Amino acid sequence: MTIRTLLIANRGEIACRIARTARRLGIRTIAVYSEADADSLHVASCDEAWPIGAAPARDSYLRGDVILDVAKRAGADAIHPGYGFLSENAAFAKACAKAGIIFVGPPASAIEAMGSKSAAKQLIEKARVPLVPGYHGDKQDAAFLERQANRIGYPVLIKDSAGGGGKGMKVVEQPADFAAQLASAKREAAASFGDEQMLIEKYLIRPRHIEIQIFADSHGNCVSLFERDCSVQRRHQKVIEEAPAPGMTEARRREMGDAAVAAAKAISYVGAGTVEFIVDAGGDFFFMEMNTRLQVEHPVTEAITGLDLVEWQLHVAAGEPLPLAQQDLGINGHAFEARLYAEDPSRDFVPQTGRLAALRFPDAGVRIDTGVREGDTVSVHYDPMIAKLIVHGADRAQALDRLSLALEATKIAGLATNIGFLAALARHPAFAAGDVHTGFIGEHEADLLPPARPAEDTHLALAALAFMADRKRQAEDSAARSGDPSSPWNRVDGWRLNDDAHHSLRFRDGEDERVVTLHFRRNGFVLDLPGGSVPAQLLADENGDMIVTLDGVRRTATVIRDGLDYWVLPGAGQPNRRLSLIDPVLEAEAMAEGAGARFTAPMPGKIVQVLITAGAKGAKGAALIVMEAMKMEHTIAAPADGTVAELHYGTGDLVEEGAELLRFEAAKG
Ligand code: ADP
Ligand code: ADP
Ligand code: MG
Repeated sequence: MTIRTLLIANRGEIACRIARTARRLGIRTIAVYSEADADSLHVASCDEAWPIGAAPARDSYLRGDVILDVAKRAGADAIHPGYGFLSENAAFAKACAKAGIIFVGPPASAIEAMGSKSAAKQLIEKARVPLVPGYHGDKQDAAFLERQANRIGYPVLIKDSAGGGGKGMKVVEQPADFAAQLASAKREAAASFGDEQMLIEKYLIRPRHIEIQIFADSHGNCVSLFERDCSVQRRHQKVIEEAPAPGMTEARRREMGDAAVAAAKAISYVGAGTVEFIVDAGGDFFFMEMNTRLQVEHPVTEAITGLDLVEWQLHVAAGEPLPLAQQDLGINGHAFEARLYAEDPSRDFVPQTGRLAALRFPDAGVRIDTGVREGDTVSVHYDPMIAKLIVHGADRAQALDRLSLALEATKIAGLATNIGFLAALARHPAFAAGDVHTGFIGEHEADLLPPARPAEDTHLALAALAFMADRKRQAEDSAARSGDPSSPWNRVDGWRLNDDAHHSLRFRDGEDERVVTLHFRRNGFVLDLPGGSVPAQLLADENGDMIVTLDGVRRTATVIRDGLDYWVLPGAGQPNRRLSLIDPVLEAEAMAEGAGARFTAPMPGKIVQVLITAGAKGAKGAALIVMEAMKMEHTIAAPADGTVAELHYGTGDLVEEGAELLRFEAAKG
């Protein structure tokens, strides 16, 4: 059977990426979309697009029944689930098979076998694949698990057997903490996965995460497409991935590949899969879990093998044999992937939502997988990943250099992102040396997250010149409208009756305020900056890309204007900066807004518990609302004794960052 029409049951970059391959192969593509995604790139990337429900994933992208119905009505031969959402949902895979539609993934039995980390380990053990010392049995009473932890030796890791995406894991350093951590892990597990089975593992120190991409067909063939090193992680989530793994020997690669293939064969696997290993300092490797789907970081494997893994998935799903055998496969050069997220590294990486005022990638030297365009919105409903940047080079050094260049040439504005953090990682000497392990980011935090510093004079100068460029344009527009373009009253480019005309601008720079004074001169300005006065000229401004001279030096830079925000991207590896123009009128209005403490959501998230009602009294420190964000719970407590005057949200509501949750009146006295 061949696949002529493919429904893509996903969104974002992965849906766009799957559509790209399908279209190249002449396959008709069907997108599905939630209410939040009607205008999204993945919809525009497909031949047809069908609405499937409201924005929350459980009402749309997780509605297997609705998606299957669309597949039937649209005449789809196959459904590609991407990653996340329904990709590891055995019931959905079964329902597809029952409806006579190909599920582009493994058989439901393989998903089931690997869906529980505990059950997977029991199976894998039989295939003689090494496991991390630990307990992965079915006995679950707390006292028993604690005895297991004592036997294994601390530190131990408590893992939710049904967990995924770095969620549901607790490191326990010492026996005294075990009981409390187990209880907390169980609570989180019940809330997010509805399953409380836990496993205990020895927590390895300075380990590496090395995974093997395998591919199996329905004719009994299974190959390894080699390894990816995904050691650079934050909160057990991958940040930068690469292939091959630094320092990997040919012998060890073969051993790991064989183990991964054995694991796949043990469950009669078919399709693309990833066997994840944790590797200790001595190079010994242990099975962690198997992901029965396409992985976020699959492009690095594509880069070094020259293959298209989605194309292979479609061949295998159509019942064809693997296009190549193990001896035909080889590694060419080195590749990296960096995950660009809407998150604020300076505030513990809280996810950000909002409009991408600018999103411009370099045209060459990098593969960009993204699901958004300039002007699109990163919403609270889905993962805040903006794009993946994938580079390839003849060797690791060249690939890494290309990664740095690509990150530094990317122009993004409108919300905080991790791009500066990624660039710092890519330029870090220890990373360049290949000295990676899962604690890398923690170990080098001081270099990667330098303390906040005030904006540099260059940032302030560029923002001030961008402001003047806008004023000049406005003046020209109004002059054109007034019918007297040459009227001196419509000019702002230096013509003044008084020779020392000047203009002061106030910018908010993080917590601080900075003032730039512009003095108008015949051929430009003199700018008074914190570090002194410099002559400046604005030579061009095209869509935010400016040519200026500062202190006699001609240079280019980008300043994206987004309302009162000036996103200054000086380029040349210099850090980006948001400077917000302080508008005296708006500020006065804000000051005038009444007393009463407002409680705003510190980050986008979901209200999981409301512990008070409007009008209720709360003692200082009393928990009022519990939010879930960044996969953790955050409690908002009363700052003083007082009363909840207004309550704006209920349990289950999604909130944007900055949304007012409630209004609290402190008791007088
Ligand atoms: P990788 O990044 O290696 O592909 P992850 O385990 O990090 O694998 O998951 C990939 C994506 O799938 C993540 O973006 C995450 O949101 C999603 N995901 C994985 N497992 C789950 C799960 N159990 N529940 C919800 N989302 C998941
Ligand atoms: P998930 O389903 O969330 O991807 P994994 O079992 O793959 O869960 O583990 C995620 C990450 O947690 C790993 O990549 C690794 O960094 C860390 N980790 C998992 N097990 C261990 C362990 N036994 N010792 C140290 N780190 C571990
Ligand atoms: Mg994993």
